[in-house]
Amino acid sequence: MAARSAHSHAVVYGATCLRPDGWSGAPLRMRDGVIADAESSGAFRIYLRDHLVFPGLINAHDHLHVNAVPPLAATEVFANSYAWIDAFQAHFDDSAVKAALRVPKAVRLRHGGLKNLLAGTTCVAHHDPWHEALDADDFPVALLRDYGWSYALGWPSYGPPVRQSFAQTPADRPWLIHLAEGTDAVAQAELTQLDALGYLAPHSILVHGVGLHEQDIERIIAVGAGVVWCPRSNRRLLGRTLHPRRLADAGRLALGTDSRLSGSRDLLEELRDVADGGELRSTQWLDLVTTDAARLLRMPLRGSLQAGAPADLVIVEDRGGDPIRSLVGIGRAQLRAVVRDGLPRIADPDFAEWFDAAGVETVPVMLDGRPKLLATSLADAEVIALEPGLEQLPIRGVAAVPREACH
Ligand SMILES: [Zn+2]
Repeated sequence: MAARSAHSHAVVYGATCLRPDGWSGAPLRMRDGVIADAESSGAFRIYLRDHLVFPGLINAHDHLHVNAVPPLAATEVFANSYAWIDAFQAHFDDSAVKAALRVPKAVRLRHGGLKNLLAGTTCVAHHDPWHEALDADDFPVALLRDYGWSYALGWPSYGPPVRQSFAQTPADRPWLIHLAEGTDAVAQAELTQLDALGYLAPHSILVHGVGLHEQDIERIIAVGAGVVWCPRSNRRLLGRTLHPRRLADAGRLALGTDSRLSGSRDLLEELRDVADGGELRSTQWLDLVTTDAARLLRMPLRGSLQAGAPADLVIVEDRGGDPIRSLVGIGRAQLRAVVRDGLPRIADPDFAEWFDAAGVETVPVMLDGRPKLLATSLADAEVIALEPGLEQLPIRGVAAVPREACH
């Protein structure tokens, strides 16, 4: 059967939506993949009473291609990331690691994209060389584009050279580097080192920052640079993470998962930890993965349901009380629907009519034990095989061959 062309002309009624000026019960209109502000005829109507609609989340740090590579056994705490990288070298001889890395990179990248989408993340900053698979129209998530990056000051042999990369990154595009990923003197010296080299600028985005001193944080805020916080990854590798409050209060902090090689399962797990940590207010939890992330990564249309922005939505049931707690604290299988460019991509089975109206073909899947519909374009068998907790179900009707003929 030929695929019907997808269209994203729809209006959500009855839900409470997080708009730029606060929570609103006004209808949320989508047209041609973006949030629209004007009424137009012929839209598919979705009635979602007792639901909340959030902007699609932004994951400010991942390495998409290594999310199915088995991690190092978590028995050791390292003084810095360089010691972890050293320890990892022997791990490359592990047969399970070899097998995971034999999976084509294009498949592994799509898996990393799907991992994010399943958890309501619709835009990701991928910290590694670009690959043509990331340009596919049906890649599961949007990506930060037109950015500069280096790997780390202490590992210059991997990734673009620091001096060249910084020099080639325009001041209006983000420049990303792992920095101060450790608790020892090496990590603690890196911000001063970066600053002395002249690479601490308003568009510098420093990933991890565990070894930052208080005065380093003040310097980052004064410059107007940003930090990406990956608390799970930090605790696992280094035994601790940074104190987020000062940076979050200044709007200079975004949240990232890192890859599962060291980090969390997904951004929802990371958010749950942030909430449990009690260091930030609930509105700040969401800012880390929406507005603040969008500002730091210089993606002005992301992280907010504003007219003209990509119609990327996370839809959840309203659990009452603080609306942010209807999202932060739940797992990915509890999301009602994830929408990208105005089209549902994964949702509970009762969203079937919307998929149908949008022309998005689906397959039935189980996600952490719950039935869901997943857009067929995202349901490559080899990608699904890499994702624990996700399983494609037989399509109803296909196996229903009449048995009468046997009698
Ligand atoms: Zn990283």
